[in-house]
Amino acid sequence: MLRPLLTLTGGLLAALAVVSAQAKPLSQEDISVAEVLRDRALESSDAYSIVESLTVEVGPRRAGTEGDRRAVAWALQKMKTLGFDRVYTEQIDVKRWHRGHAHAEVVAPFPQPLVVSSLGYSVPTPEGGLTAEIVEFADVEALTKAPAKKVKGKIVFINRRMERARTGEGYGPAVQGRSKGMRIAAEKGAVALLLRSVGTDSDRFAHTGMMSIEGVENPVPALALSAPDANLLEAMLKRGKPVEVKLDVDNELLADGPSFNVIGEITGREKPEEVMIIGAHLDSWDEGTGALDDGAGVAIVLETARLIAELPSRPRRTLRVVLFGAEEIGLVGAKQYVEAHRSELDNIIAVSESDFGAGKVWRFDTRLPENKFDIADQMMQLLAPLGIERGNNNSHGGPDGSVFVAQGVPAFGLYQDGTDYFDFHHTPNDTLDKVDPENLKQNVAAWVVMSFLVAEMEGDLGRVPTEH
Ligand SMILES: [Zn+2]
Repeated sequence: MLRPLLTLTGGLLAALAVVSAQAKPLSQEDISVAEVLRDRALESSDAYSIVESLTVEVGPRRAGTEGDRRAVAWALQKMKTLGFDRVYTEQIDVKRWHRGHAHAEVVAPFPQPLVVSSLGYSVPTPEGGLTAEIVEFADVEALTKAPAKKVKGKIVFINRRMERARTGEGYGPAVQGRSKGMRIAAEKGAVALLLRSVGTDSDRFAHTGMMSIEGVENPVPALALSAPDANLLEAMLKRGKPVEVKLDVDNELLADGPSFNVIGEITGREKPEEVMIIGAHLDSWDEGTGALDDGAGVAIVLETARLIAELPSRPRRTLRVVLFGAEEIGLVGAKQYVEAHRSELDNIIAVSESDFGAGKVWRFDTRLPENKFDIADQMMQLLAPLGIERGNNNSHGGPDGSVFVAQGVPAFGLYQDGTDYFDFHHTPNDTLDKVDPENLKQNVAAWVVMSFLVAEMEGDLGRVPTEH
């Protein structure tokens, strides 16, 4: 294909270039700028120092806690140093909860301690703890089908293992036990829930996480159990004798309080009212330092914006970085953002969130109207050399992004390698040493291509029909 073209005269070549430029939505000039940004990101971006700063200077930052307040102050300060035109917060309301101690031990037939962690918003045990026999279920479906008399007065033990996958697709089915297990157990008269951690590691750490507590009439304590301890209970139960466990938990539900979405903008030079949103969530669980979830995402989108802010001129439309608050406890920041910004949703040209750890990006997903696919094809010219393949058009734009997608906002998904993400997710082991600075450079390179081209492109992306 190339050889005959090379024999054409320069004039003909230029004419051909003009024709092809007119046919394609992204101009050659814009692509050239994106290429420079990409290569700059690979050579000199430093997202690592941002996640290092967040984990060292703030650390755990569960929504509504003192750590969360310090994270908001950190984010405002950091954005001010990175070259944004405008930095501000928007208040959100969050349910608050105090994590106290959580102890669990087998008292019979083979007494020994267990490693557990309260699931988010678990109620406490009665003063002095509770002791009951455990009853095992393979998964939440088996619990749902069980007669109440099998469960009443017992501690429900859901023992479902999660499959490891690069896409993280084992998470969806496994997390059902965490999101619904306590409610179903409580309705059937159980006294507590013990859940095999939703995770892929064999470390003796329990994985915390949110469950649905809304409208549960008589909630019971709910704890995640480390994988080795779930194996231990499984083996004890196989010996055919009743296994009794004592739980002692002293959490506390607190009054609602404020948290914040923290927002930084690079104001568009031509269409400032049109906005590309790139995001991550600022909150984390409280037992690790939230390096992977989602300190890495915060660092990737902030560094992406910094590189774009360094260009000699602003992109055509506004690039808005939203660091969402309270993602972990139910996408609270994103839901309240969409509610508060309902009248300008048509001006949100697209959304994308980085929230899957710090692995390399390997796949580029989209959610675009069918007549806009050639934009993604053009972006692929710059993404393919980063080792990224074209994925599907089912991107949900990330957890917080999905709230926008539900309103028809187009989305992009730079899918990271999540093979080991769920080894650390929501554990005390989610710490900075899991983050590889080189992988972050590759992430920023991909993000800067996608973010710049959407902010700069001539046309728009339309709306994507929603299912309902
Ligand atoms: Zn997350």
